[in-house]
Amino acid sequence: MDKLVSKYRGSRLGDRLKLSFEYFPPKSVTMERRLWRTVGQLELLNPSFFTVTYRATGTDRQQSMDTIAAVAKESKIPTAGHLTCAGEKREEVDKVARFFRENGIRRIVALRGDARDGAPPVDEYAGAAELVEGLLKIADFDISVAAYPETHPLALSETDDINYLKRKFDAGARRALTQFFFDPDVFLRFRDKAQRAGIDKPIVPGILPIHDIERVIAFGERCGASIPTALATRFLRLKDDPRGQYHLAVEQGALLCEQLIREGVDAFHFYTLNQTDLSFAVCRQLGTRVEYLPMPAKISQPSVNVSERSSFGVDAIQ
Ligand SMILES: Cc1cc2nc3c(=O)[nH]c(=O)nc-3n(C[C@H](O)[C@H](O)[C@H](O)COP(=O)(O)OP(=O)(O)OC[C@H]3O[C@@H](n4cnc5c(N)ncnc54)[C@H](O)[C@@H]3O)c2cc1C
Repeated sequence: MDKLVSKYRGSRLGDRLKLSFEYFPPKSVTMERRLWRTVGQLELLNPSFFTVTYRATGTDRQQSMDTIAAVAKESKIPTAGHLTCAGEKREEVDKVARFFRENGIRRIVALRGDARDGAPPVDEYAGAAELVEGLLKIADFDISVAAYPETHPLALSETDDINYLKRKFDAGARRALTQFFFDPDVFLRFRDKAQRAGIDKPIVPGILPIHDIERVIAFGERCGASIPTALATRFLRLKDDPRGQYHLAVEQGALLCEQLIREGVDAFHFYTLNQTDLSFAVCRQLGTRVEYLPMPAKISQPSVNVSERSSFGVDAIQ
């Protein structure tokens, strides 16, 4: 870290927060530009790590691997590749883990994933706990796993779900990143139950700033995350007022984080959906300082065109 910046860090609450940001592989040139803009801007908050999601289906697999490797290479922020195993042969999953290792990627978010329709029933890794064990035989990866404050939809019971999370930690995971939620009590109750089950490693709340209430409701229905009716109503009332929705989303995201901070939470995992503004604004609202990086010689030239610009572009903030 730049010495001048580090001298002043640590005295403000926002500087003590450990942040991580999640991206997904872009599907078009426009989306790719948006990804790099987002990476460039969120780097300025000096997060602990980035993560990039993974899809095992068809061409998505190669695209996921390429995006994970590109973000890891271009960014100064350590990057974790997500990796799923459902419906996959063990050798195929291990090959991706070796690809990560060979590309200097030391962090993995290890997931079972959801087997695609019509996929052959190969589940050589039975679930995420077995995957964590297998990955640690390949390299000493820093492994995160998923956790579900409102219980995974396929879990037999809440207790079973927490016991399975414990198995993932016992297998060697270092932290869990949660599914998104909007009620702080949902997370706090889950954290208490996890502690009572003997889990003593970090459970990092997943924060999804509400960029589009209808899409968020649909995501929630698919993955079992509830949206309080009063909150949904506030957003739906602002249907034709994008500026109002933006301000409400920042206010709601920051309030949720502040309520958790008061209960001792000091790390947050943001689902960015490759959009800069909301995650950035929520973190700024929490007092996270923006770190201005020294400008690399390459981009201080006046005639650099956009496609050559590195992901560290300070101008992205404007
Ligand atoms: C932070 C985060 C990131 C994600 N990233 C991706 C991604 O990049 N790509 C993607 O495709 N999906 C992703 N997902 C979605 C995830 O793949 C799905 O939620 C999937 O259904 C479960 O994956 P898991 O690793 O939690 O599974 P697991 O932890 O293996 O299992 C899920 C649940 O099933 C039950 N269970 C499983 N095995 C057992 C067992 N042996 N005994 C008892 N109970 C069991 C438990 O209740 C457990 O919590 C992500 C989810 C989160 C929260």
